[in-house]
Amino acid sequence: MRKAIYPGSFDPITNGHIDIISRASKLFDEVIVLLAVNPNKECRFSVDERIEMLKKATSQFDNVKVDFYPGLTIQYARNVGAVALIRGLRVVSDFEYEWTLSAANEFIDKGIEMVFLMAHHEMTFISSSAIDELYHSGVDISPLVPKVVIEMYKKKSK
Ligand code: ADP
Repeated sequence: MRKAIYPGSFDPITNGHIDIISRASKLFDEVIVLLAVNPNKECRFSVDERIEMLKKATSQFDNVKVDFYPGLTIQYARNVGAVALIRGLRVVSDFEYEWTLSAANEFIDKGIEMVFLMAHHEMTFISSSAIDELYHSGVDISPLVPKVVIEMYKKKSK
């Protein structure tokens, strides 16, 4: 069984993430979408809210699971016997960040491959922070995120 981990902050999950999850689920027997802690990001949604969104938004994929790990993703990957860590690439600035991350992961465990999937063209501008800004500026974000994200935003503003 070839297992891969797709880690991220998912604050909130977007259709860009879903696209990567869908493609990864065809490449691997099992994909674990891992809510990971990024110390550089202050999150709008709590861990529980993001887990709920991830579970609802990925329920259509039979071989996709959701989990949370507060430590290093590469250590989680080793613990569960994963062969790869999936990341998505949109623009050159993503590459710079991912390059450093991948070097650090390689230092910790050379046995787990980093697999990079290029964002589809129409998804390159979608980021969690852009979604948040658009939503709070009154733009209709429904074509860009799973339905549960809009429900969560509405619940939050009540
Ligand atoms: P992190 O805080 O770990 O960067 P994110 O939730 O922002 O977490 O992103 C998780 C992964 O998904 C990253 O590899 C990011 O580059 C990728 N990603 C985010 N948005 C998109 C998108 N629109 N298309 C493809 N990949 C994306």
